[in-house]
Amino acid sequence: MQPRNVAFGYSTRCNIRCAHCVAADEVRDDRKMELDQARGVLAEMAGAGVRGISFTAGEPLLYLDDLVDLVGRCRDYGIYTRIVTNSFWARTQAEADRIVQLLQASGLCQLRLSYSRWHQQHVSRECVRNAARGCRKIGLDAFVSFVTDFSEQDDPHEQFLRDHGLTFFPEPVIYAGRAGAFPRRGIFTDYQANCCPMNPYLSPDLEMYACCDAGSHFANTGFFRLGSLRDTTVGELLEASERNPLYHAIRTVGITAIASFAGFKAREIVTYRKCELCRELFDSPERLAMLRQAAAADLSGWTR
Ligand code: SF4
Ligand code: SF4
Repeated sequence: MQPRNVAFGYSTRCNIRCAHCVAADEVRDDRKMELDQARGVLAEMAGAGVRGISFTAGEPLLYLDDLVDLVGRCRDYGIYTRIVTNSFWARTQAEADRIVQLLQASGLCQLRLSYSRWHQQHVSRECVRNAARGCRKIGLDAFVSFVTDFSEQDDPHEQFLRDHGLTFFPEPVIYAGRAGAFPRRGIFTDYQANCCPMNPYLSPDLEMYACCDAGSHFANTGFFRLGSLRDTTVGELLEASERNPLYHAIRTVGITAIASFAGFKAREIVTYRKCELCRELFDSPERLAMLRQAAAADLSGWTR
């Protein structure tokens, strides 16, 4: 069995409201799992061969005590853990140090610090720096996820990270959720394969989706919805994700080649962001029906 990784949405509640948030539409979304329910799900995931869990969705560390408990259980199961956070809790270096020590003691493997010009309208960038420094002091793996639309407005934010010697990786804005209405900028890059790892996402109401990013918002076809843990096991839902021929094509062939197969012109394909192209392909009932039919036959051989 291949290693299984899951994005775990314990709660969609967040203490800030970033203008680019993919996790939220305009309506406030404060769903949360019960702690006991989450413990049960983790036990089931461990039994189903899940080996990596990323705690994400809203702001996980609004529930610090619960997260310490859940991460500790993952450690006991031998599951690698990551928490994605906006660092609001790292207001002073002393407070940042205290919390990262607590997380490390619970068994946390990695902290991922979200950072962007939109996050930093609500959370001081010093918080991100404090959190990263606290991790560095105790040897807890951490990196900054620098969300950018590649505009010049982001230069000072990137420079701040460089000035403070912080490890960071740029991540493109995903034009879904609140960012769906953002103006698009031209992009200048090569013809990318756009393969996705497709780590499933579990929402607080126990719905599981095959993609943790924009995919849970494909409302016309529900293409990425795998099912609910209320009436299906973790193992069955993960298997459904792994066996689906179109998901397999997304992992291996990539969105770009699928679009070409579907008849998109090459020069049209390069005008799309990855998740937007994905939406064009899979959130249209007619096109999805065609691709489903092709997935098991013609499309499976669509590689160079
Ligand atoms: S992007 Fe992250 S920190 Fe910002 S509102 Fe969304 S969940 Fe909260
Ligand atoms: S391209 Fe599709 S599968 Fe990949 S992250 Fe975006 S929505 Fe998910």
